[in-house]
Amino acid sequence: MDNLTGIFKDKKLKLTPQRIAVYKYLKSTNEHPSAETIYKSLLSDYPTMSLATVYKALKTLVEVDLIQEINVGEGNFRYDGNTAVHSHIQCLECGRVDDVTGICFFDLNDKIKDKVDYKVMSNQVYFYGICHDCQNKLNN
Ligand SMILES: [Zn+2]
Ligand SMILES: [Zn+2]
Repeated sequence: MDNLTGIFKDKKLKLTPQRIAVYKYLKSTNEHPSAETIYKSLLSDYPTMSLATVYKALKTLVEVDLIQEINVGEGNFRYDGNTAVHSHIQCLECGRVDDVTGICFFDLNDKIKDKVDYKVMSNQVYFYGICHDCQNKLNN
């Protein structure tokens, strides 16, 4: 908790129970939940918290780089408590999102340098496939 107080203080964020709840939840999972999933998971502990409040807390936390927003396509926003640069893969069957670790796509920035008239700063690579569980289900 002390740690969290320090982190929020560094970012000049007011420690509201909602922000703490959302941040802690994201730090405790690597499931890349949507705002609705976070809202539903927190509902029993925070019955007065609305979905709009969850959205607001998420927006604030993204703005100060404590969490990251992942857009896996079609306006399907997911949230990640891991702010390190990493890629994601989404299951086309169940929609789960996992981290792709151990591979870096930073050299892509260099590769497209000659193709665009931009100073390339970053990229975000998404993969799509069928997760282990869904492969099993589909095979049965
Ligand atoms: Zn799946
Ligand atoms: Zn992630």
